[in-house]
Amino acid sequence: MPSATKKRELDFSAFPPGAVSEYSTQLCLACIFDVFTKQLGLAPRTAYSEIKRHSPTAEELTAPQASRPYFDSEEKNPRCPYCDSAKRWHARVDTYRIEGGKVTDAARRALLKSLPKAEDQFQLIEKKSDRRTLLFEWLDTLGRNLDFEDDQWLIAATRAYLERREPKIDWAEIFEGVRVVRRSQRLEEGWERERDRLFLAPTLYNEVLFVQYLVSRSHKHGGRTFEGRLTLSELVRRLRYSGHLNAQGITERDQFDVLEKLVEHLVGGEGAVKLYYIVDRRDFLEKVKTVYARYAT
Ligand SMILES: [Zn+2]
Repeated sequence: MPSATKKRELDFSAFPPGAVSEYSTQLCLACIFDVFTKQLGLAPRTAYSEIKRHSPTAEELTAPQASRPYFDSEEKNPRCPYCDSAKRWHARVDTYRIEGGKVTDAARRALLKSLPKAEDQFQLIEKKSDRRTLLFEWLDTLGRNLDFEDDQWLIAATRAYLERREPKIDWAEIFEGVRVVRRSQRLEEGWERERDRLFLAPTLYNEVLFVQYLVSRSHKHGGRTFEGRLTLSELVRRLRYSGHLNAQGITERDQFDVLEKLVEHLVGGEGAVKLYYIVDRRDFLEKVKTVYARYAT
């Protein structure tokens, strides 16, 4: 197969869906060349070899708001927001973040082994994090991707949470055609489908309410859930009367202490997590070559 039509996507099918996050950003090579040749006064050739070695940080690649020389754009032919350069100056950089742990270790090693090694086409960044930070990052990303104008977000948030909680289960299939999610009156754990309804055991259902609250809360108005708009004290009262707090061993009376305990339960205890970022530099390496060719002539 000619290399141009070779499949460039990485295959993450061996990973549970909740364990891999994808980020994509544009890198403006005109901006970078400008810094190296005009501001630092390097000859194009030297600039080229410096730029080829450019290894961004995980923060630069995954920030919700990109900053120079990175930018995000949904347009087909975007212009650089900093220097107005056209598309041929832009390289696309894709980043994949894998959460380390028993569920992903084997698949991650196999994937890394399968990647081409030449020319640093892929860069691996390892970072330490912890479960609590990951939970709030996850809520943040989830919140940015939900459309709060459409009540469907409540079901989308439920599915996203269950995918995160039980990554080995095929939730896409379970959620196919679901229109209503309810608290089950008879299940002690797990879930069941009945036509277009999905019933969740009380513990799961209450966790979902809490996640909906967290993802949609604002200082003035509380959060929105399957059970309507709730302030923190209303949510805590509801969880107390439903027996959820007792069942989780949460005896605190103060609502903010209860909130902390609920977060702890959601997080699943303290714990360090290792993050692996795979940075796809292929488009960058190709573009930097053609841009340099243009610069040098
Ligand atoms: Zn630019």
